[in-house]
Amino acid sequence: MNTINTKCLIIGGGPAGFTAAIYASRANLQPILFEGIQPGGQLTTTTEVENFPGYPEGISGPLLMEDLRAQAKKYGADIRSGQVTKVDFSNRPFTVTIDGDKVFSAETVIIATGASARYLGLPDEQKYMGMGVSACATCDGFFYRKKTVAVVGGGDTACEEALYLSSLANKVYLIVRKDHLRASKVMQRRVLEKENITVLFNTNTVGLFGEEVVEGAKLVEHLGTEREQHFEIAIDGFFLAIGHTPNTAVFKPYIELDEAGFIKLQGNTTATNIEGVFAAGDVADPRYRQAVSAAGTGCRAAIDAERFILEH
Ligand code: NDP
Repeated sequence: MNTINTKCLIIGGGPAGFTAAIYASRANLQPILFEGIQPGGQLTTTTEVENFPGYPEGISGPLLMEDLRAQAKKYGADIRSGQVTKVDFSNRPFTVTIDGDKVFSAETVIIATGASARYLGLPDEQKYMGMGVSACATCDGFFYRKKTVAVVGGGDTACEEALYLSSLANKVYLIVRKDHLRASKVMQRRVLEKENITVLFNTNTVGLFGEEVVEGAKLVEHLGTEREQHFEIAIDGFFLAIGHTPNTAVFKPYIELDEAGFIKLQGNTTATNIEGVFAAGDVADPRYRQAVSAAGTGCRAAIDAERFILEH
């Protein structure tokens, strides 16, 4: 088996990975970057990005990613496709296996694998995926103009998505499992004041129904208590906004993670618990999860990797 050597291996093709690649290429680290199954990351599932600095008119998510990719390529980043299937961080240089058979030996690794939207785990979510079930209101909200939709979750994302959808749809249900919202006060107030949003507290979703596409949801109020009550709502769209799971499973044997699976960083750096392995973007950020903050940490990770190489 041929092993390819590199000074810097970047795993992940989102804003963090590409920004790390731009900086690492310009620092002459000749990085190799691996894009996974969703090249461009979560931004490619967004329509318009209006808060990335430098684009006063906004820019489409896929276009922004194409630009970042092209910029990384321009400075010599070697961009390839493949899934990391195994890593060995026990010794330097580190070993990273791609797609089960391609082995890379790297002096430094930057993990920028992002996070994926969480689902409830109902078989009906799979059944109606793309047929009324979505985890991205900004991507799919457009299809529900003047219709009725439901959003699941009680955090800032759920409130943001419910508010966004309320400007398109006729009616929005927000399905919250607790008796309160977890979102910030300002978001809570906006949601509760919005006329066409109905918040269903203490409510869980147990199924969806519909001939070919989603036509309704089966809900339970006060699940598992004496007051348990089953009912149905008629909806055309069902949006999940119950948080994200960081894509860290493959690194778990070596990299220290928090209880939610996000990579723990050392102090105010992008260093992980393994010297020479750095992390950038959503994979190490449960809090901000913005394209620009991911890009910022990608820059920092490349600078940290460059300094590490100089020092060792
Ligand atoms: P959060 O983890 O904050 O919230 C997840 C929500 O989903 C919670 O209400 C949780 O319920 C609920 N939930 C989780 N699992 C289930 C389940 N199986 N069934 C039903 N409900 C479930 O995630 P967010 O994505 O909302 O936010 C992540 C971070 O990003 C936060 O720090 C947030 O503040 C930030 N953010 C900030 C924004 C802004 O400032 N504009 C916008 C979006 C996010 P429970 O409360 O019962 O645990």
